[in-house]
Amino acid sequence: MTVVLGAIADDFTGATDLCNTLVRQGMKTVQLIDAPGDNVDTPEAEAVVVALKSRTIPVGEAISQSLKALAWLQRAGARQILFKYCSTFDSTDEGNIGPVAEALLDALGADFTLYCPAFPTLARSIFKGYLFVGDALLSESGMKDHPLTPMRDPSLVRVLQRQTKGKVGLVQHATVAQGPAAIAEAFGALKHDGFRHAIVDAVADHDLEAIGEAAKDFALITGGSGIALGLPANFRRAGLIGDGGGADRLPQVNGKAAVLSGSCSQATLAQLAYMTARAPVFTIDPLAAADGRKVAAEALAWASDRLGDEPILFAATAPPDQVAAVQAKLGREAAGALIEGIMAQIARGLVARGVRRLVVAGGETAGAVVQALGVTGLRIGRQIDPGVPWTVSLGEPALALALKSGNFGAPDFFLRAFSALEEAST
Ligand code: ADP
Repeated sequence: MTVVLGAIADDFTGATDLCNTLVRQGMKTVQLIDAPGDNVDTPEAEAVVVALKSRTIPVGEAISQSLKALAWLQRAGARQILFKYCSTFDSTDEGNIGPVAEALLDALGADFTLYCPAFPTLARSIFKGYLFVGDALLSESGMKDHPLTPMRDPSLVRVLQRQTKGKVGLVQHATVAQGPAAIAEAFGALKHDGFRHAIVDAVADHDLEAIGEAAKDFALITGGSGIALGLPANFRRAGLIGDGGGADRLPQVNGKAAVLSGSCSQATLAQLAYMTARAPVFTIDPLAAADGRKVAAEALAWASDRLGDEPILFAATAPPDQVAAVQAKLGREAAGALIEGIMAQIARGLVARGVRRLVVAGGETAGAVVQALGVTGLRIGRQIDPGVPWTVSLGEPALALALKSGNFGAPDFFLRAFSALEEAST
C-alpha cells in the first residue's frame, strides 16, 4: 500500500487529532513532525499527516513550509491533499488559512477548494456560513479573546474573503442535506460563476461524510479534522486502501513507564490529583529552577530507584494562582520556556534510563519533549480518550507516546493510558 491521502496540519495537536480520526475510519496513518526530509520513510502508511507549527507564524513562512510538506507528500504518492486547521478557523485578516490554501491550489494546478472546519462531536457547526461553538456564535465564544487569533467575525465567508484573492462562496445546509450529488452540483455551479473557494455548512457527522464524498475528485480539501470523516470511504470504494482492519494496531513496546505533565488545564489538574493518590509524583518547582537549582538532575536522581513497569509522574502542573505567581516573577514566556526545557531534559534522561512508554500532558510540553527526543514521526494507534491516541515513534528506539493536549482526558487518564496500551499492542 502506498500513501493515498496527504495532509498538512497547521499545529501539532491538531495533526494528532486528524490522525486519530483517520485511524478510526480504518486508514493506517503516520504523523510526521515538521516538513520531513527525503530520508523519512513511512512504512505501510495509507495516510500521512505532516504536523507544522504554521498557524500564527508570518504568512510567507507558513506558505513555504506548507509547500515543502506538499512536495514531500506528492513524492510519497498522495492522490489528495487535506489542509487541516482548527475547528474554530483560527486565523487573522492576513491569514494564514486563505493564503496557504491559495498557494497549495496553485502548486497543485487546481482551481477550486472547499472549507469546512465543522466538528459536531466537539460542538463546532456551520450554518449559513456562520460558525457556532456550542450554542454561541464564534464571535461570542471564548475565541473572541484568543491572545493570537481573536475571532470576532462569525461569518466564515467574510473571514476567508479578507484572506484570499479568489472569490469565496457558500454551499448552504439545505443543499448539503440533499447529499453528495447535490453538493457536487453546487461546487460546479460556484466554479462556473468564478468562485475559487467555498465555505460549506455542516451540523452533523453525516453532513461531513456527504461533503467528503462530493469532494472525492478534489486535489485539495481544507477543514478541521471532521472533514476527514468522509474521505477514507472514497479511497476504499476506489480500491486504493485496505478494508480498515487493524489500522490501529501498533508494534509492541516494552520498557519502563513515566508521565510528564506540563499542562495546567482543569482536566490535567484533576488527572494529577488522581495520580498523586496512586503513584510516586515529583513536583517540578519553576522558582527553584530559576534560582539555579538543577531540577532535572534532581528529578532523574529521584526516579532512579522508582522507575519500572508502573508509571511515575513528573509534574509542573499547578493551579491558576500558583501559575500566576510564577509568571509574575519570571514572565509568562520565560516561565513556559524554562519548564519546557526541564521537561525535555527529564524526557531525554528517562529514555536513557530505559523508559519506553511515556505519557505527556500539554500541547507545548509535548512539542518540546518530542523535539528533545529527536522523534521524526509517529504511527497512530487506538485512542485512549476522545482525541488522544497512543502512538509509536518511527526509528530507534521505538517509544510508545501518548501526547495529550490541555483539556483532554478523564481524571484517571494517566493510569488508564497504560492499560489501554497493552490492549492496543496485541
Ligand atoms: P496545554 O495543552 O494545557 O495548553 P501546554 O503544555 O501547551 O499545556 O502549555 C502549558 C504551559 O504552561 C507550558 O509552557 C508550561 O511550561 C507552562 N507551565 C507549566 N507549569 C507551570 C507553572 N507551574 N507555572 C508557570 N507555567 C507553567
